[in-house]
Amino acid sequence: MSLTSLPKVELHLHLEGAAPPAFIHSMSREKNIDISKIFNADGSYNFRDFTHFLSVYEAACSVLKTPEDFARLTTAVLEQCAAHGVVYAETFLSPDLTCEADVPAWREYLGAMQEAADRAESQGITLRGIVTCIRHFGPERAKQSALCAAETASDWLVGFGMGGAEDMGEQGDFAYSFDMAREAGLRLTTHAGEWRGPSEVSAALNDLRVERIGHGVRSIEDPALVERLAEEKITLEVCPISNITLNVFPRMSDHPVEKLRKAGVPVTISTDDPPFFHTTMTREYETLERTFGWDEDVFASVNQTALDGAFCTDETRDIISKRLKSE
Ligand SMILES: [Zn+2]
Repeated sequence: MSLTSLPKVELHLHLEGAAPPAFIHSMSREKNIDISKIFNADGSYNFRDFTHFLSVYEAACSVLKTPEDFARLTTAVLEQCAAHGVVYAETFLSPDLTCEADVPAWREYLGAMQEAADRAESQGITLRGIVTCIRHFGPERAKQSALCAAETASDWLVGFGMGGAEDMGEQGDFAYSFDMAREAGLRLTTHAGEWRGPSEVSAALNDLRVERIGHGVRSIEDPALVERLAEEKITLEVCPISNITLNVFPRMSDHPVEKLRKAGVPVTISTDDPPFFHTTMTREYETLERTFGWDEDVFASVNQTALDGAFCTDETRDIISKRLKSE
């Protein structure tokens, strides 16, 4: 079986960050919004570093305005995922970028995205949503996102998390929002240990009590933390090519994903913001095969780990499990 058609589970995917550049470009023309400076001559996204990436990202989001726009975005993203063998994905949704985290508006946007996702089920891909607050917008705005999440928690909107710039504030500053989400029955994850070191991952576990970590790769710098992650079965949402593109590690051979896996940490593989990092799930798998010799058995176990760590109901998990085994 080719690495493209191999059935995959992807847990760390920002919906807006997965927007194909051609899709954003055509939306900008439709709406007469000039964002031409965010594109390279070949039509790809143009950014220099992480800070610039965040501003290009926000410019790309500026063309997405109505619930219908987000429904179309969901369809476009799921087509891409399905083309690379993804059978189940969880996607980060940002009420801040969608509707300034206004709860009644959020219900409409979420409904439109969910309908688009339901239509994509016929392509053999299932999507679930995780509301994320944006760290560099601060803890007060995060509460509004948490409220959106808590008010719309369901079998489809299954989690709450945090993305954005890791160098702003502390994980614990956001405890109120994470507590609100937990009380609403949502499962929790947060970006940590990508830009800051292992203490950030410990803070996420201790102060926010999350059960998954977005990235978490710099945990490798603290052997006691690596042991804890393995023992407590904390799933890491590892995005190798994102890390190399943003210079978290200089080369793929320096990436700790294999060491973490060998240490018994539940590692999973995702693309983060694929067109920004010129990646796809196929490209991630090809790179892991080439760099660390991962074969079909390793990929099968990584996908099982991802399914075990997925925030969906057990009923959905059973359906996806059959999809993973049937190909
Ligand atoms: Zn991310």
